[in-house]
Amino acid sequence: DPELSDEFHRLLAWADDRKHLGIRTNSDTPDDAARALAFGAEGIGLCRTEHMFMDPERIPVVREMILALTSADRQQALDRLLPMQADDFRGIFETMGSRPVTIRLLDPPLHEFLPDKEELIKETAQLEITDPASNELKTKKELLREVRRLDESNPMLGHRGCRLAMVYPEIYAMQVEAIMHAAIDRAADGAAVRPEIMIPLVGHVNELKAMRRLVKESADRVLNETGEYVAYTIGTMIEVPRAALTADAIAAEADFFSFGTNDLTQTTFGYSRDDAENKFLQRYIDDETLADNPFMVLDSEGVGELVKIGVEKGRSVKEQLKTGICGEHGGETSSIAFCHAQRLDYISCSPYRVPLARLAAAQAAVVEQTGAAKEKINV
Ligand code: PEP
Ligand code: MG
Repeated sequence: DPELSDEFHRLLAWADDRKHLGIRTNSDTPDDAARALAFGAEGIGLCRTEHMFMDPERIPVVREMILALTSADRQQALDRLLPMQADDFRGIFETMGSRPVTIRLLDPPLHEFLPDKEELIKETAQLEITDPASNELKTKKELLREVRRLDESNPMLGHRGCRLAMVYPEIYAMQVEAIMHAAIDRAADGAAVRPEIMIPLVGHVNELKAMRRLVKESADRVLNETGEYVAYTIGTMIEVPRAALTADAIAAEADFFSFGTNDLTQTTFGYSRDDAENKFLQRYIDDETLADNPFMVLDSEGVGELVKIGVEKGRSVKEQLKTGICGEHGGETSSIAFCHAQRLDYISCSPYRVPLARLAAAQAAVVEQTGAAKEKINV
């Protein structure tokens, strides 16, 4: 890791005295979290739990869980994942001490966990020729049927986030149990861990209502069983336009909002996140008269307008609603100035962007103050 010089640390400390925005980090591993802390992060604003399952040893278990044909099979796979998840969260909480940690429940584009369909077709065809009566062929055919059923044309707009948990609530129940067990363990060691549990891809308040009930039931079950107490909060990502437009109803069910401007950009522009960058969008960006990269820069007329609406509507029903941003925009200087202007509580960005974000947050505060002072004396 590059070391920051003493001078730079001094500059950053000066910046911290002036900024209003909190600076958190997007981190999914203790190593990333430690790196971000060294750069001055004040908490984790987004822990993407799906990344924890990308480990080659875990993918088969996740696959089993998703492709399970019975709920008993699914539960078996989840029972194997639970201790692994508890370890993941223990590691993160240990690194972060008593700082805030927002854990987002599973939000994978499903295809990342499914077996390769073409491979499966080939293997099935081969078995049909060589061993037409085998049990293996029967199993492969069932598997292929399930993979075809779950296959999506637009996985990023499909069976993701809370939609997955509306169909398989036991997945989120397992994750919440793991979070609570890890938090209880840390509390026993004297750390004040207060997990912030976040629901992804909410578009309708009823999704959040159902998820809130599920999270609460799962968390309280662990607390009742262990006789321990851990304070936790439940919030939501605001990352589809409908969530921003109905943020007043959604705020009634949420302790905090985190703006997922990656998905919000995708859905506001109608640009596929998977396909836009390095393709047609590059043409737009290369031509400076056309566009900034909308996946980096928040403009107050488009995606930023939805953020504004979301903040205003949310605060109209809950004055103290905590608000942050965890899309890529949270690490870009002009977008940080925009977040400052909206009076968000914090931005969250990748560990290496934390020092820059601290400076940008201070700059936004200083520019605003200087502007106000100039206005006062009519310059
Ligand atoms: C987002 O959509 O902005 C976000 C932070 O979530 P992800 O990138 O994981 O979809
Ligand atoms: Mg998202």
